[in-house]
Amino acid sequence: MPILLRTLVLPCLALAFGPSPGFAGGLDVPPELRTRAEVSGFRATSTGAETLDFLRRLEARSPYFRLGVFGTSEQGRPMPFVVVSKDQAFTPEAARGLRKPIVMLQGGIHAGEIDGKDALLLLLRDLALGLHPAVLDRITLLVVPIYNVDGHERVSRFNRSNQDGPVEGMGFRTNARGLDLNRDHLKLDSAEARALIELFNAWRPHLHVDNHVSDGFDHAWVVGYATAEAPQAAPSIDAWARATLPAVAEATRAAGYPTGPYLELLSSEEPLKGAITPPYRPRYSTGYFALRNRPSVLIETHSRKPFRTRVLGNHAWLGALVEQVASDPDALVEAVATAEKRMVALGAPDAPASDVPLRYGPDRDDPAAGGGVPDHVRLPLYAFTRSTSLVTGTPLATYQRGQLLESDLPWFHTPRVAQSVPRPRGYVVLPGWPQIERVLRSHGLRVEPLPGDLDLEVETQRLSEPRFAGRPYQGTTAVTAVRVGRALETRRLPAGSLWVPADQPDFEVATQLLEADAPDSLLAWGLVSSVFERKEWIEGPELEALAQEGLKDPKRAAAWEAALRDPAFAADPEARAEWWARQTPYWDETIGLVPVYRALRPLPRP
Ligand SMILES: [Zn+2]
Repeated sequence: MPILLRTLVLPCLALAFGPSPGFAGGLDVPPELRTRAEVSGFRATSTGAETLDFLRRLEARSPYFRLGVFGTSEQGRPMPFVVVSKDQAFTPEAARGLRKPIVMLQGGIHAGEIDGKDALLLLLRDLALGLHPAVLDRITLLVVPIYNVDGHERVSRFNRSNQDGPVEGMGFRTNARGLDLNRDHLKLDSAEARALIELFNAWRPHLHVDNHVSDGFDHAWVVGYATAEAPQAAPSIDAWARATLPAVAEATRAAGYPTGPYLELLSSEEPLKGAITPPYRPRYSTGYFALRNRPSVLIETHSRKPFRTRVLGNHAWLGALVEQVASDPDALVEAVATAEKRMVALGAPDAPASDVPLRYGPDRDDPAAGGGVPDHVRLPLYAFTRSTSLVTGTPLATYQRGQLLESDLPWFHTPRVAQSVPRPRGYVVLPGWPQIERVLRSHGLRVEPLPGDLDLEVETQRLSEPRFAGRPYQGTTAVTAVRVGRALETRRLPAGSLWVPADQPDFEVATQLLEADAPDSLLAWGLVSSVFERKEWIEGPELEALAQEGLKDPKRAAAWEAALRDPAFAADPEARAEWWARQTPYWDETIGLVPVYRALRPLPRP
């Protein structure tokens, strides 16, 4: 692969960056509408209280702004949002009745990566001052300036070691009890994530944007962006993103902010080895909203650029995006409607058989596995030297700012299905698992309790050989590996079991939650691990007597003899006792049985 094309010296970056703050598109900004970032010369970001004050001033100035609260954080802070609507459609019902796209822009999910909030305040001010008139005419905006409101107030200059400002400090990555909200979209463990998804369920925005600041290696791009591609994204959503986002990037470049795809290096030690933008799992916004049939754009401003440059670049990107959406608002509305209809049709009772994906590649460890083919990216990487790290003793790449090493790298980013299962007509969740029901309902999924007992042939998932993570993550102990056995069985479904039908637009959220093999399933997170536990024992003389009796059956005797030929088994008293316990009617057949059944035929209606 052609690599390392040429080295050149980058022109002074400062000259390239857009208009000075205090002016919005040539308009004078009244002093009371200057943000804390601007007033401080981009040494500081606004506090939560200053942000609310600023938003109230915009609300007082414009009849098209409405400030609201969509939830309460775990430390009790209100979670603010702003609706911008020229039709004054300030309720979800009113906004959804307009046939205008609803665009949701979100900042501060990782509250130390706060550029998005400061950029959103500038964008909202632009709109209040009359810039972007087409946007006001054609779009309803739903803006969450600070998603992680608790982390946002945990300010320190030492929260982000590789981030160039704001020098007076920034908030913290997680919520108060250490949960990373950008790992919580599917399991919804935090109050904040549940509130955000409830907001989403009510408004059903057509586009979601999640603003971050990057980590990692050094290059000349100010803004990076990524979104799920097909087949992880529905075909209509993928087509919309391909038709729209390159123009947004081009407009951002034209405004003076170098922009490119958000990617990670395959090896931080060997930067030229290649790059990857992996398909994000549904724990991330980028993967989750793809399941909800929406484009979700991940913005990553580059941490090694100064705060001012990052905020203004982020602002330019967001402004270009809303302009681009406004240039053809129907295209977005139709893309989402098409994707939702497709999902309902795939799950219809009389639909032809299809598969539902559980996992996508490529992954960082082995991007070429399973036929992954790289694209190429021209990455404005800075030149680097390599030395041996005194800290780790391993190779370390150190970048030289300003020395551009324009590199053509192999770039893995096209998703492919790594694992799928036949699409069920629905799931049945057994009663007695409130943690499963709660999360299904929080995602707004349609679930129906069965009115009476029902005997039905279903596909079960039986788990064995579980392995667990050696340390907690997100407050849970994950199941890192498990064998999943699937079988057709006729099972009694007790009254109160929940039926989750497949003919609903968000059905693949249920798939990702309920399939044991899905990477972020409730099982994988360790949230239903009691299924692995044995609660009743048969031992000593009782088991001995049953074994004596059992050996009279020649088949069983032969199986026992065969089992004993494994010396490890023969030397393991517990394994031997379990072997015999399994032969008796005292064995609990629900050990390892996932309390969720796959229905391969539609539910019979009384
Ligand atoms: Zn982040």
